[in-house]
Amino acid sequence: MNHVKRLQESLVQANVPAILVSDITNVQWLTGFSGSSGYALVTGSDSRFVTDSRYTIQAAEEVTGLDVVTFASPVKLTEFISLQLRELNVRELAFERSVSYATWEDWVAAFADVKLTPAPDVIKPLRMVKTSEEVEKIKAACKLADGCLAHVQRMLQPGVSEYDIGLEIEFFFRRNGAEVGFAPIVASGENSARPHARASERKLQPGDFVTLDLGAKLDGYNSDMTRTFVIGKATDRHKEIYDQVLKAEVACCEGLVAGISGKEIDGKAREILDEKDLAKYFGHGLGHGLGRATHDPGGLSSRSEDIVSIGNVWTVEPGVYIEGFGGVRIEDDVLVTENGPEILTHYPKQLIEIS
Ligand code: ZN
Ligand code: ZN
Repeated sequence: MNHVKRLQESLVQANVPAILVSDITNVQWLTGFSGSSGYALVTGSDSRFVTDSRYTIQAAEEVTGLDVVTFASPVKLTEFISLQLRELNVRELAFERSVSYATWEDWVAAFADVKLTPAPDVIKPLRMVKTSEEVEKIKAACKLADGCLAHVQRMLQPGVSEYDIGLEIEFFFRRNGAEVGFAPIVASGENSARPHARASERKLQPGDFVTLDLGAKLDGYNSDMTRTFVIGKATDRHKEIYDQVLKAEVACCEGLVAGISGKEIDGKAREILDEKDLAKYFGHGLGHGLGRATHDPGGLSSRSEDIVSIGNVWTVEPGVYIEGFGGVRIEDDVLVTENGPEILTHYPKQLIEIS
């Protein structure tokens, strides 16, 4: 079933007569459009994709399941949407809560006879359950991430800068027809204690932990994977930290089954890290949804209200970050199936010492 039909069913169930989808990632997910400007107007029985003349040809090629309507200057976007609302006889329109105050003001003025109401969260639960086509695309992006790590691992030598490694990651994805899902994280030595460090001029040195967090965006879908290496011989402290993060990561990947809550699985990671008094160095959540966006809807954390279900794709990424020493994070992408978790990223995760 296509996403428009799924959304229409949800609208009927939630008693929402019509929604104007404006969040571009939601629009892309819903329609297949890959451009950067478009709107989807969906009622229980009709659906229209609205974009401007820059995208007429692209929309005709990419958008499926909705009627494509485009406008050109001097017609204004709000006038054009207003026309669609009249044609589809929409009197009450739900808007996404992510619209800016300025946009909302414009819409209130332009859609004068239409009652605007904030939409209930109908799209998040749909985006969290991936279709088989989406899973195939995520798997292809994961395969590219595995290939990228194999390619750049050879560069991990003393004297090579984080920048150069980051650039090579970007080149690799581009050369293979993908984009980077996010600026790759290359964090060595003390920098590795910062979970979201950007690649810097720092050169790798013996004794460093080096964390590489990278993801490809291929055909609109993402991968997101992290491995941590040691340059030279690992010390006992390196090994103790690494092995405990690995133990937590493996247990949480295995434990990611339908019915467990985001809170519980996050707690499991903390429990395991605490065996070595390391949970206090794990400041972020265990994982997030993955799909159209690197951070797709859904979270695994102590504050999560989400329940893991079949068709979800999650990242599992426990980490330990010790200021002045360094950090370790290991991250895989996991599909929840009726037979249990299926790990989609396959790069080895035993501690690798770069000699
Ligand atoms: Zn990541
Ligand atoms: Zn992640």
